[in-house]
Amino acid sequence: MNKETTKYVPEELESKIDIDFDALLKELNALREAPQLNETETNELVFKLHEQFPNKEIALEKESDVLMRVVERIEIECGDAGHFNFFGAAMDLVEINPSNTEFVEHKALKGEFAAYDHKNGIIVLTRDVMQGMAPVAILENLATLGYSQSIRALHHELLHSKQFRSSEEENKIIEDLVKTHSFYGVMVQIKRLLGPYMRAHDVLKEVHSYQGEQKFGGEFDTTADLVGILKGEAYGYKKTKDTDRIIIASQDIKRLYAFELSDDEIGVLVKEARWDKKRRCYDLIEDKVKELTETKGLDEEDVDNLVLADDIKRKIYIQKVKLIAQDELKKAVESLK
Ligand SMILES: [Zn+2]
Repeated sequence: MNKETTKYVPEELESKIDIDFDALLKELNALREAPQLNETETNELVFKLHEQFPNKEIALEKESDVLMRVVERIEIECGDAGHFNFFGAAMDLVEINPSNTEFVEHKALKGEFAAYDHKNGIIVLTRDVMQGMAPVAILENLATLGYSQSIRALHHELLHSKQFRSSEEENKIIEDLVKTHSFYGVMVQIKRLLGPYMRAHDVLKEVHSYQGEQKFGGEFDTTADLVGILKGEAYGYKKTKDTDRIIIASQDIKRLYAFELSDDEIGVLVKEARWDKKRRCYDLIEDKVKELTETKGLDEEDVDNLVLADDIKRKIYIQKVKLIAQDELKKAVESLK
């Protein structure tokens, strides 16, 4: 920029954030237009790879090798292993139950593919999700969608595991409750104690898990889509009140992710945040957004731009993953000849 012209621009009018939207959009378009396989071609490659090996054991080994190369490249070329970063931590919580009926009968799992059972601290999966974690299935997903549906589901449940208080934390609230003598103090403690099991808090937890998994996946595009998912049979958040909360929570959670807060940091806020009727927001979540906006010297428009840039970067990430997976699949099949 020319100094002569900038000299007269009042400082407040200059944006505090430096995002090159043109470059981001250019990169996204180039990736979308890059030569790539369609779904049928990808499935053919996967089939070829899978069918080439004389037995299942060898196939599993070879497919794992291909998948490991893909994940290595994702980490290097996209700068982040995405859902694969959380795979180990999520698997530590998975309770593998060989009987499919028991999965379905698990009360936390009403028709869902995966669920977090907070009382036992475990992630319960249906057989579909387990099967989706076979290397060949992950490869197929990565090469057609740009993300693995099963690993994304695991990430979603891992996020839930960060949103519940430990029994020590609950005991501390009960201790404080006993110490409090004022009516107001008791009410505050009761609200903190019971809040996590209220509908408004359940909505917040789902919004956080969906927005968190979304970072490297693509189950929905807009907040309206998320409202649709949470209104559906699996969740049933159909009231106008729920919709308002989903929209407000989504906006704030997306902002926190755009400020580069981690899953853990947001999880801690989600755990303790409560719906504030008067302010019409989740208190601690909104407070954090305000605090970060102020300390960084930004205004609301800057923050919206950060969210927008974050969304384009997410789309770039997914496209890159897809192309890497296709490339490695092609190489793997080629090497079989
Ligand atoms: Zn969930």
